[in-house]
Amino acid sequence: MHLRERLLRFMQGRNGVDELSRFCNGAGLALILLALVFTIISSGFAGRSDTAALVFRILYWVTYACGIGLFVYSLFRSFSRSVYKRQAENTRFLYRKNQIRRKWEGLKERWRNRKTHRYIRCPKCHQQLRVPRNKGKIRVTCAKCGEKFIIQS
Ligand SMILES: [Zn+2]
Repeated sequence: MHLRERLLRFMQGRNGVDELSRFCNGAGLALILLALVFTIISSGFAGRSDTAALVFRILYWVTYACGIGLFVYSLFRSFSRSVYKRQAENTRFLYRKNQIRRKWEGLKERWRNRKTHRYIRCPKCHQQLRVPRNKGKIRVTCAKCGEKFIIQS
């Protein structure tokens, strides 16, 4: 049997590589690169400051272990036969990732509009609202709950 066929047969009924696994691989690689930086710094302190050398040595071990841990977790997820559980994890991961992305986009938009708009919260339902700047006293109607209030823009 060809290697490719054997591999395909082996992966049958297993979760395979998904977005969460890819993310764990990327994060694991980043941690191992960071560990490399720590070990270089640690050897830079060797003979000059034993305490600093030890601290960076410990940082090296911690980041290295976490990086390897992420690789192992990613492998475990890829080979796992509990496909439903792994898919549920992946869905939660994608949901969380999307939340963070939306928050980040919102912050970028606030920064772009900082000269023309203010961002306030509705006093009743705490919904975030965008209002123009420098228009004197304005009456705001909350888009979510309909609360009306006056602010100095
Ligand atoms: Zn409201």
